[in-house]
Amino acid sequence: MSPSGASGPGDARTRIEALRAELARHNHAYYVHDAPTVPDAEYDRLFLALQRLEAEHPEFDSPESPTRRVGGQAVAAFGQVVHALPMLSLQNAFADDDVRGFDRRVREALQAAGIDAAGLRYCAELKFDGLAISLRYEDGRFVQGATRGDGVVGEDVTANLRTVRAIPLKLDGPAPRRLEVRGEVLMFRRDFERMNARQAARGEKTFVNPRNAAAGSLRQLDPALTAQRPLRFFAYGLGEVSDEVEAPTSHAGLLDWFATLGFPVGPHRCTVADAEGLLAFYREVGAKRPTLPFDIDGVVYKVDQRAWHEAIGYVARAPRFAVAHKFPAEEALTELLAIDIQVGRTGVLTPVARLKPVFVGGVTVTNATLHNEDELARKGLMIGDTVVVRRAGDVIPEVVRAVPERRPPDARRFAMPAHCPVCGSAAVREEGEVAWRCVGGLYCTAQRRQALLHFAQRRAMDIDGLGERIVEQLVERDLVQTPADLYRLDAGMLAGLDRMGEKSAANLVASIDGSRRVALERFLFALGIRHVGEEVARILAAELGSVEAVLDADWAAMIEAKAAAQKHNAKARPKGEPLVPVPLEGVGPEIMRAIEAFAAEPHNREVVAALRAAGVEPSPPARRRNAPTASEGVGVGQPSADSAGGALAGRTIVVTGTLPGLARDEAENLIRRHGGAATGSVSRKTSFVLAGDNPGSKVAKARELGIAVIDLDQLLRMIGHDG
Ligand code: NAD
Repeated sequence: MSPSGASGPGDARTRIEALRAELARHNHAYYVHDAPTVPDAEYDRLFLALQRLEAEHPEFDSPESPTRRVGGQAVAAFGQVVHALPMLSLQNAFADDDVRGFDRRVREALQAAGIDAAGLRYCAELKFDGLAISLRYEDGRFVQGATRGDGVVGEDVTANLRTVRAIPLKLDGPAPRRLEVRGEVLMFRRDFERMNARQAARGEKTFVNPRNAAAGSLRQLDPALTAQRPLRFFAYGLGEVSDEVEAPTSHAGLLDWFATLGFPVGPHRCTVADAEGLLAFYREVGAKRPTLPFDIDGVVYKVDQRAWHEAIGYVARAPRFAVAHKFPAEEALTELLAIDIQVGRTGVLTPVARLKPVFVGGVTVTNATLHNEDELARKGLMIGDTVVVRRAGDVIPEVVRAVPERRPPDARRFAMPAHCPVCGSAAVREEGEVAWRCVGGLYCTAQRRQALLHFAQRRAMDIDGLGERIVEQLVERDLVQTPADLYRLDAGMLAGLDRMGEKSAANLVASIDGSRRVALERFLFALGIRHVGEEVARILAAELGSVEAVLDADWAAMIEAKAAAQKHNAKARPKGEPLVPVPLEGVGPEIMRAIEAFAAEPHNREVVAALRAAGVEPSPPARRRNAPTASEGVGVGQPSADSAGGALAGRTIVVTGTLPGLARDEAENLIRRHGGAATGSVSRKTSFVLAGDNPGSKVAKARELGIAVIDLDQLLRMIGHDG
């Protein structure tokens, strides 16, 4: 049943009462405990449903209804402040037509009041997602600060507000004797993440978002605690004011005036003449939203001519001369229908949430990765749960948490399978790893499919025309078991596949044939050895010169030799003593062990031998690098000299987990190319952690230290996608 889908008046009454009770509960959790249990979009949905029902059934009207009241009640533990003028909420607009309707109603109200609307202007600004406060100044000095409370009576948080550095205690320039400035207290996202991590490390209360963190921090009984919280402030409105100094007559002028008095005001604002101008501002800010350092949940439009406000008037809990135009919610509720297992190229089993389709952050989301077993356990998700799904900006959707109050009695726990769901081979979780892996290798069709796609891709063997659909069929029909089998395909065999004409079959055979002459580094990369991305393959090719040399190297000895050289170079040396050469600079022990394991598997050697027998002839680089000196090449951890001014200059980044389509060392190389430094362990000096799937303990460490964790998309955006 839809929330407002009551059939008779009796039903309507029950439904109205149920909605009022539910909203009252949410208000309490949100305004009193600063700990909402449902996302705002869910609250807004219930609120709208109640508003509609009440409009259909005026007979059940009540002044106590949440639709008639602002915010929540002031908590008695704080002193009370009766607002000189009520602090109202805002009406919401969601669709473009809601905005046009707002503009129309403003013009109608002006006309009804006998005002010529021809010169009407709107001031458009950001809708900060924090909490509203009022600041009273007498003779230019801050004397009292209060929360909005229920709009009539707020909480006295003067002592706490004194600790917020963005709030001037003394005003600059001439100010009226009595002045009340209103605005929003909020927390920047980065500060929020740091603070939450610190709280978690100390075993103290954490907050679900910056808005609730700001509210919780401001509403501390001990101002010393508030002082430790990174609160900010933006001014956007005028309360009571005495008239010795004339306040500007326009809202835009008012904001400029606040700035001259020493208040921070929102960075993005403009004045426009009509609804289309408002909508253009909305779109412009929407595009900037992910890059702002703080959360906004929309933009606010206010009639710029302040003298007209009273004439336009008020509805129950909000002015008619202003409206909040909300952005699509970044969090929404949906149901976790199932957890599927996806098998990756290297056999990693990744749990994926299958969700009841939900519109969030501007797109419909139906599934989201749950990363790994530990992450799943941390979130305590059960199949059947109602979950909060988040999608902010272009970031991949995420299942944030379950809503335990809504857990159905038949909710089921999920356990990682002991066998690969694709091939039935055993699944193992090795010590020190977060991922479960299928041990099936190329026997596992899921791994085989992806191994073939990896092998054929442009950056590897560059087999044009060997896309997903063809690979799928080749594997399904068992025509190809290893990459070497590709070289036995003929046009006749291929022409039998779906959507494969004679011409494209001939083209594919030609491009398979053409791939026989391949650069050694591409061939090494194509083999899909764990951790061997393009950059490592390039180093191996340059230093070892053949695939046999890579497979036959004594890797254990190499690891030791490298460690010894590094140790020697790290020691204080007598002046003039040269550094000893470090073999395979940029190839760490983890990678070397992975190559060793690959080479130790007879099956892998058979595939390589079969490829060679099929005429694949990898050619070593023209200029081979023999044992390099320690000063050559780019050392891990140092930015390369030619990229010192890049987008990541001065940043130290740790890469962890499996990144989509990019090996870890490639990511590190990318970071270095853009001027950043890539290091292996998270410390206070780390700027951020780039995390993929199955990220492990580095992400936990980053959270503990309050260091931001980003995904590959975010990194690519930082460097302008030009990888
Ligand atoms: P609101 O936050 O949607 O709008 C009014 C508020 O906007 C003002 O009081 C002010 O604080 C703020 N604002 C920010 N920038 C502004 C600007 N430039 N000019 C003027 N005002 C500006 O409405 P509300 O009445 O405070 O509360 C409703 C909001 O709280 C909704 O978003 C709702 O989803 C959320 N809420 C959520 C829960 C929950 O359980 N999740 C419970 C209660 C309320």
